[in-house]
Amino acid sequence: MRFYEELNDFLPEERRKRDFPVEVDRARSVKDAIESVGVPHTEVDLILVDGHSVDFTHLLRGGEQVSVYPMFEALDISPVVRLRPLPLRDPRFVADGHLGKLARHLRMAGFDTLWTNHWNDDEIVRISAVQKRTILTRDKGMLRRKEVDRGYFVRATESEEQLAEVIRALQLEGMLAPFTRCRECNVPLEEVSRAAVLDRLPEQVRNLYDRFKRCPGCERVYWEGTHFERMRGVLGRLQLLRQ
Ligand SMILES: [Zn+2]
Repeated sequence: MRFYEELNDFLPEERRKRDFPVEVDRARSVKDAIESVGVPHTEVDLILVDGHSVDFTHLLRGGEQVSVYPMFEALDISPVVRLRPLPLRDPRFVADGHLGKLARHLRMAGFDTLWTNHWNDDEIVRISAVQKRTILTRDKGMLRRKEVDRGYFVRATESEEQLAEVIRALQLEGMLAPFTRCRECNVPLEEVSRAAVLDRLPEQVRNLYDRFKRCPGCERVYWEGTHFERMRGVLGRLQLLRQ
């Protein structure tokens, strides 16, 4: 078996970027074999067995050469069985409890991202399945569960780097829509007139800005200025927006 590109992140040093043997004592699905060495199936996009693309249920009998490629890797091999559609056309996420800052950054960038700090793994997996949302987590174990169809293992530990990583890895650059979604409750923002929100604005903001948006969920008011600049600042620093 041999793993390519980022899939090596899941392997111990001695198995990275080289062929290594995996025991198949009875007919075993290629998915089982892949997960037995620690790589979550959600990270895998293409499997070649002796040069032919196969799906996860393909049975191994021993002696085959298995090449495993990550999601979103551009490959010039056809025809192939891609294991999932790409890129994500309607990217929607559910983030695990430890990724609250990333969830807020994603909302800020316009992406529909569910997050609370009280969901357990079962609930996150169920939400992902029912609502077809991609799980974002730093817990490899969660992505190895068989009910999980869409998931991304976040490598970075710092929240702004995590945002950049997710956007690049899932090829979301063209779908950024900052200032469209409430960073606290994930609800799309509505455009409102200054008059409608005047009594809720700090004195120094009232006359400074023309465009305001309101979250119909929490009633929070956003204005171009502090909020918008902060969003653009983060995305700009990460070189995700053309300045
Ligand atoms: Zn809100």
